[in-house]
Amino acid sequence: MPKKLARKSRKSAVGSRQSVGTRKSSRNSGKGRKYVYFFGNGKADGNRNMKDLLGGKGSGLAEMTNAGLPVPPGFTISTEACTLYYAEGRKVPANVDKEMIENLGKLEKAAGATLGDVSNPLLVSVRSGAKFSMPGMMDTILNLGLNDQTVEGLKARTKNGRFAFDSYRRFIQMFGNVVLEIPKEAFEKRFEEVKHGAGAHLDTDLDEKALRDVVARYKEVVKGKSGRAFPQDPLEQLRGARDAVFRSWNNARAIEYRRIYDIPDSIGTAVNVQMMVFGNTGDRSATGVGFTRNPATGAKEFYGEFLVNAQGEDVVAGIRTPQPIHELEKVMPQAYKQLRDITTRLEKHYRDVQDFEFTIQDDRLFMLQTRNGKRTGYAAVIIATDLVAEKLITPKDAVLQIDPESLSQLLSPVFEPKAWKALGVATKGLPASPGAASGQVVFTADHAVERARQGKKVILVRKETVPDDIHGMFVAQGILTATGGMTSHAAVVGRQMGKPSIVGAGALDISESARSFIVNGKTVKEGEWVSFDGLTGEVKLGQVATKPSEILQVIAGDMKSAQSDIHQRFAKILTWSDQFRRLGIRANADQPDQAMTAYAFGARGIGLCRTEHMFFGEGRLAIVQRMILAEKEEDRRAALAELLPLQRGDFYGVFKAMQGTPVTIRTIDPPLHEFLPKREELMVDIAKLEAKGVKGKELQDKQTLLRRVEQLHEFNPMLGHRGVRLGITYPEITEMQTRAIIEAACQLAKEGTKVVPEIMIPLVGLVKELRDQKAIVDRVAADVMKEKGVKVKYLVGTMIEVPRGAVTADEIAHEAEFFSFGTNDLTQLTFGFSRDDIGKFLGAYQDHKILDKDPFATIDTVGVGQLVAIGVTKGRSTRKDLKLGICGEHGGDPSSIHFFEKVGLDYVSASPYRIPVARLAAAQAALQVKVGD
Ligand code: ADP
Ligand code: MG
Ligand code: MG
Repeated sequence: MPKKLARKSRKSAVGSRQSVGTRKSSRNSGKGRKYVYFFGNGKADGNRNMKDLLGGKGSGLAEMTNAGLPVPPGFTISTEACTLYYAEGRKVPANVDKEMIENLGKLEKAAGATLGDVSNPLLVSVRSGAKFSMPGMMDTILNLGLNDQTVEGLKARTKNGRFAFDSYRRFIQMFGNVVLEIPKEAFEKRFEEVKHGAGAHLDTDLDEKALRDVVARYKEVVKGKSGRAFPQDPLEQLRGARDAVFRSWNNARAIEYRRIYDIPDSIGTAVNVQMMVFGNTGDRSATGVGFTRNPATGAKEFYGEFLVNAQGEDVVAGIRTPQPIHELEKVMPQAYKQLRDITTRLEKHYRDVQDFEFTIQDDRLFMLQTRNGKRTGYAAVIIATDLVAEKLITPKDAVLQIDPESLSQLLSPVFEPKAWKALGVATKGLPASPGAASGQVVFTADHAVERARQGKKVILVRKETVPDDIHGMFVAQGILTATGGMTSHAAVVGRQMGKPSIVGAGALDISESARSFIVNGKTVKEGEWVSFDGLTGEVKLGQVATKPSEILQVIAGDMKSAQSDIHQRFAKILTWSDQFRRLGIRANADQPDQAMTAYAFGARGIGLCRTEHMFFGEGRLAIVQRMILAEKEEDRRAALAELLPLQRGDFYGVFKAMQGTPVTIRTIDPPLHEFLPKREELMVDIAKLEAKGVKGKELQDKQTLLRRVEQLHEFNPMLGHRGVRLGITYPEITEMQTRAIIEAACQLAKEGTKVVPEIMIPLVGLVKELRDQKAIVDRVAADVMKEKGVKVKYLVGTMIEVPRGAVTADEIAHEAEFFSFGTNDLTQLTFGFSRDDIGKFLGAYQDHKILDKDPFATIDTVGVGQLVAIGVTKGRSTRKDLKLGICGEHGGDPSSIHFFEKVGLDYVSASPYRIPVARLAAAQAALQVKVGD
């Protein structure tokens, strides 16, 4: 066979394209855009600010190259090329391909080797890399450029046949799996055969001869499964790998990952083609990963793992157990020192914790990746406050650095110490992600999802997790694996999700097929309880009660902030946030204890106090039912008179807890049947009484109740007799509630606390509805103030939650002194999706890409959001000082908060435990940073 066969075929490919036009004109084709960015020889086309275009990995490689760090040269094909690839029906346009070939030429020059050259072959890796890192979502192909000839060339050059064939077999497997879509197991099976035959323990025990055998068998696999021989032309290999990366953007794992992390489907991935360096040439070579600080606890310590004589994903794949990084100091002291210097520099340069990947080839260090490290919510708070203390970042940077959502991890429970100590330690693993987890064991991701749907708490136990497990990891209380290190898939993803995780608990003998594991001689079957502490790595058998986290203990007043380091740091972050946010933060709280919690979390006001929740309090429901059952107004008034002191007491408590900050109280909202027993239950009760022969009052009462329940029955209660409609038909309810509110305010005024109640009428779509109710409120308020001899200020306003209300907001604002957008109902009524039934079809809508996100969780800015915007503009056109807030669930959702900042609301109102998230998100929104950046 001619020596440079592969090389020639590439040349002809270049030649045929170059004949179309000159180099210059070809670069200007495709609307004059540049699609490929080179890095090498200390200079790169890109830099750190080009993540959109180059992806995180590409921009990091460019930045490191520019900083003079030892980075193997290469080039990045931009995310725009990925977009083009899909736009052209999954084809890379000729001009992009041409630009790639040109850059390949540059790379060959920089590397001093040529793709496909038998005596001096260039080998490259082909690496995916989107703007946001998606760990394990897309596979990297290493050692591309090897074929039956170049492998011999590599052997001759390195005088290392074992290495050459180890590289080749890896390449065939990766290419076979990623590009030709042949299952990994097909290769693994053949590999095990050879290992077994050779009596080898470790992969590294195989010699050249055995590896040649592996290669031969792998080629058979490829031929058998794909129907054709393993491609020998390096350019065909390169194009195939490039296209596979683009394709992988839309594999199921990647799509699921983006769904969970709210990453847009449209942004695409870049492809990095980079000269290979080798960690598998022998004992002076290694590959590893690390962090400049501990990503689980935030501690300032060099953290990571490496494997001698290994390549690529060996470290994270959990095949061999890697060594802790500080041991590298003993094995390769020079490379270790250089690595520490470089990563310290990188941390200073990026002013954030760096997550880095490196390879050492024959004692020479190469950097292969750096990025801001993912971390737990706990670590995020420690790191950000430390970096400020070290003057590496400012408080503003700290506020921008923390994912608001991750703060909620700091509120999740810890074990009840006594109950935890009572159980013996079954085993210990690596503490990959902190937190207390207690749940029933499951062995597959699908079972995890199934059981979680039944409302069960599960712990996902796996030998090791793979990216396909992500849905199960998401629903589990915690993740427990038998193999893998602190940077294994389970550890990385667990930390990112804020899930308690323990990995590498080697004593677990797991049988996934028998659905059980054995530890310490005990067998644990699926469904049995296991508990573990992700901070210490201890695993125990049995269920353990949990208790509130330190921060919650401080909030509840059971612990002093001075005793809690984490609370002080948490409070610091939030105090900084308050300096940057414009939006006010209020809470949705119905009862005094909730109000107190909300206040302690930093809410300064209540945006929604649902009065009907008070009706469910002890001993109250009977009175409420009497009110509903009353056939005469007189009887109804009598029942309401009994409720009055109770409601007044509640309002007094809420006002007091909020210490004079504004409190919005909504008059009764739900359909009345919600306060009555269910029709079916009553019928059963009556049947039982009749069967027992019971007669008299008990039976009569039940029968009366049933009649009233049947009367109140509605076909569409959410669109029925509720909200303002109740106040209009039963004005005495509005009267009683107004009286209770104003009396409580008067009482507090007498005690010296000034409160300004905001009385909110729900579900208004017509200005006349509001006018009707406002007249009642004003009349009763005047009466009460006269009786009490106290004057208090109060406001009357409405919820904007019916589309008609939003559209006629200018009219409504004549009567309303404030609006609160009720985005739950507004979403329901705008889409016509029942908020209680959307679960039945939301999944399908997401699968069919009709909806990206659950519109009840994150506001639909294009539809529902427009109604909010209209409400804001029209409302303010009538009343310049109209107070505007939002009290739907969206008030605690970071990306929705960005939208509310943009449309200029005055405040957002969220549930008490979301207040920290809302404070931080509001600060980020004010600083105009997009979520996820
Ligand atoms: P991921 O996005 O999954 O981290 P990478 O593209 O970073 O994937 O590749 C995974 C690993 O493959 C790297 O950490 C590195 O060990 C190895 N690798 C990638 N490119 C090269 C290269 N040019 N030379 C040596 N090893 C490489
Ligand atoms: Mg990968
Ligand atoms: Mg990587």
